[in-house]
Amino acid sequence: MPTTEHAVVIAGGGPTGMMLAAELTLAGVDVVVIEPRETQELEGSRSGSGGLHARTIEVFDQRGIAERFLSEGYEAQVVAFGGTRLDIGDFPTRHPYGLALWQKHIERIMAGWVGELGVSILRGRKVTGFGQDDAGVDVRVSNGDPLRARYLVGCDGGRSLVRKTAGIAFPGWDPTISWLIAEVETSEEPEWGFRHDALGTHAIGKKEDGRAGIVLTEREVGDSGERTLEDLSEALVGIYGTDFGVHDPTWISRFTDVTRQAEQYRVGRVLLAGDAAHIHPPIGGQGLQIGVQDAVNLGWKLAQVVKGVSPESLLDTYQAERHPVAARVLKNTMAQVALRRPDDRTKALEDYVAGFLGADEPRKRLAAEMSGLGVHYDLGEGHPLLGRRMPDLDLVTTDGPLRVFTLLHDARPVFLDLGEPGGFDVAPWADRVRAIEATYDATWELPAIGEVSAPSAVLIRPDGYVAWVGEQTQVGLAEALTTWFGPARDV
Ligand SMILES: Cc1cc2nc3c(=O)[nH]c(=O)nc-3n(C[C@H](O)[C@H](O)[C@H](O)COP(=O)(O)OP(=O)(O)OC[C@H]3O[C@@H](n4cnc5c(N)ncnc54)[C@H](O)[C@@H]3O)c2cc1C
Repeated sequence: MPTTEHAVVIAGGGPTGMMLAAELTLAGVDVVVIEPRETQELEGSRSGSGGLHARTIEVFDQRGIAERFLSEGYEAQVVAFGGTRLDIGDFPTRHPYGLALWQKHIERIMAGWVGELGVSILRGRKVTGFGQDDAGVDVRVSNGDPLRARYLVGCDGGRSLVRKTAGIAFPGWDPTISWLIAEVETSEEPEWGFRHDALGTHAIGKKEDGRAGIVLTEREVGDSGERTLEDLSEALVGIYGTDFGVHDPTWISRFTDVTRQAEQYRVGRVLLAGDAAHIHPPIGGQGLQIGVQDAVNLGWKLAQVVKGVSPESLLDTYQAERHPVAARVLKNTMAQVALRRPDDRTKALEDYVAGFLGADEPRKRLAAEMSGLGVHYDLGEGHPLLGRRMPDLDLVTTDGPLRVFTLLHDARPVFLDLGEPGGFDVAPWADRVRAIEATYDATWELPAIGEVSAPSAVLIRPDGYVAWVGEQTQVGLAEALTTWFGPARDV
């Protein structure tokens, strides 16, 4: 059987797989996505009022595509913990809000973008198995010849075949609660909005096409089998006393608070990202966000390893940086499930939590975490910017005004010299790192941290995180450039 070779094969073309494919393509790496769905069309709406959180909007802004999403959704304060909304309107970002937009639209817009980039997606096929050796991975694909790749990335969702085949443990917590979710027609006007009872919270909302979107807390966790229209009708009668004449479902499913995280994000030449690496209940709307951000963290690193710019050990920083972020999300969703228990004692606790979150400091800290704006990779001691997202500053250059995020559109590293011109020597990395001289005279401010001292230079990774901060000296610059972007070359 003939074998086609690619640098990277991605199993799964959901939000994570598409983002990773785009990042690799921007870096000039040959990649193919294997996706069972014949079109990007998504069954059910999923991410709704959660939509996009601020950092994910920023990540898209870094690639020059934020406007495509912003023009289709509506801006809203979407960060919430338990029942308490956490307003981020005062955060120092160009996007101090979230975007209400259904996941099916997010995926459609992303698919349009990866299509423009020329990413090849093999649809109607799935990865059925693989075997790896020292030089690469043989990937078996349904309805097609096997593929050979230098790396395989499993972006194939919570039930990831890649994770299971790689033998990666997926420890965590079994479900304690289950929700039935459906999109249906009704012959009577349903009771729109939330209803709270001894089972928990139930909700019926109007979809953009006028149909009813229903989420009901189930009586028991029960079996994991599929739910039917009859199940939905019975559950509605149990809660509302009527089933509102539900009929013609487009989607009936269930989800639980099962919470798990892959022990390893990489085994040799096989990596995991997105739901394949971590699952948790959708409370707080964070799953898609951390999947997309996993991809943006991994993309440039994998590209550099494939191109021989960096050693394979660079990939270890992917797990070191992203595993703690997802572990934290798992924790906050578990805490929120606990706060939703319908008994009076839990309600009393929730009142206290809401009270604390009304104060500025706790609100900012938690909102920074849940919006993704507070992500901090541990890159050692130093200036508060180190390991944090680079703010999208309005710079002034000799060629005129320039936004920092514009510099990141092509997903290349940037050295931003904000001091005296020519004060730093990055010429030995000029083939990989773009150097820009600019000035910025306003205040530097970070979400939840506040004002920080103005650096004289910053080294920005392609994912938008700061790898080195200069405060009048070059100390540590050559090491940072070598660590992240490979050794110096003769100039
Ligand atoms: C009811 C609900 C509401 C949610 N609301 C939100 C929200 O508001 N905000 C938010 O951020 N997140 C939300 N989520 C979570 C979000 O939907 C997921 O976190 C997100 O889809 C993960 O993206 P992914 O690409 O990692 O995985 P998926 O979206 O699961 O994509 C995996 C892809 O892999 C493909 N695949 C599967 N098996 C194979 C195989 N063997 N070979 C190749 N491909 C394969 C699948 O077809 C699929 O396209 C919600 C989830 C649910 C269930």
